Amino acid sequence: MNRKKFLTLSALGGTGILLSNSIMNSKFLQTLPEDGNLMPVLFMGHGSPMNAIENNEFTEGWKSLMKDIPTPKAVLVVSAHWETTGTKILAVDKPKLIYDMYGFRQELYEVKYPADGAPDLAKEIKENVSFTEIGLDHEWGLDHGAWSILVHMYPDASVPCFQLSLNQTRDMKWHYDLAKELAFLRKRGVLIVSSGNIVHNLRYMRYMYEKPFDWAVEFDTKTEELMNSGDHTSLINYKSLGTSAEIAVNSAEHYIPLLYSLALQQKNETITYANHNSKDTLIGSFMRSLRIG
Ligand code: ZN
Repeated sequence: MNRKKFLTLSALGGTGILLSNSIMNSKFLQTLPEDGNLMPVLFMGHGSPMNAIENNEFTEGWKSLMKDIPTPKAVLVVSAHWETTGTKILAVDKPKLIYDMYGFRQELYEVKYPADGAPDLAKEIKENVSFTEIGLDHEWGLDHGAWSILVHMYPDASVPCFQLSLNQTRDMKWHYDLAKELAFLRKRGVLIVSSGNIVHNLRYMRYMYEKPFDWAVEFDTKTEELMNSGDHTSLINYKSLGTSAEIAVNSAEHYIPLLYSLALQQKNETITYANHNSKDTLIGSFMRSLRIG
């Protein structure tokens, strides 16, 4: 059964900043602020699309991670829900909302988020990332992996938003290495937000679990330990972490966004967590979200 079908069924129930030579020589560094302040990086466990229209412990957890973050120049979202062949970046003036979920309450399909896009910034990223060719995209918009959290982060839609796609033909290390080339954006005042879920297996999706699955707890705990010790290599090679990893990362697209966040971590930066004790009764796991910087 595919992912779309599962979502439908669910609804029925209710290292341091490393700059490559090309970037070092790019026009970006000529415009870097001299104070050297870096914009934090967020990974949001987005869970059910219904969180977009609810105020609950998860949405409060997301907001807690945003404390004291200065208003960004733009938000770049790396969403689990935009997989492409090749890498694309959204380059439109006014992103449309994509209602890429099925069978939910009508109210969810009426959510509006009229933020501007950031097409000029998208072009600059394309020009300055040398790791891979990035295509400018004029077809996509903001998918629910993006807007379901943005409506809580910046409810007035006052900050320009755009998205980077996940190249579905590439492996974990490739995504991690690409993300490193986005590091300069932190100095440019761009907030990079990855949106997925560390534990995500729709085969086990039910309502009202009494407690999280043992394998979910095990993998969530293991990933926290590895993140706290800075062992990104083991997190990239999660498949070697055993049975709990195999089950928890049933399809990798919700896990890969985490690697984009970790790749942007400097050696002196710690991680702040939220929602790691908040049980999602839908997926039988936690909604761990985090902030770096
Ligand atoms: Zn999702």
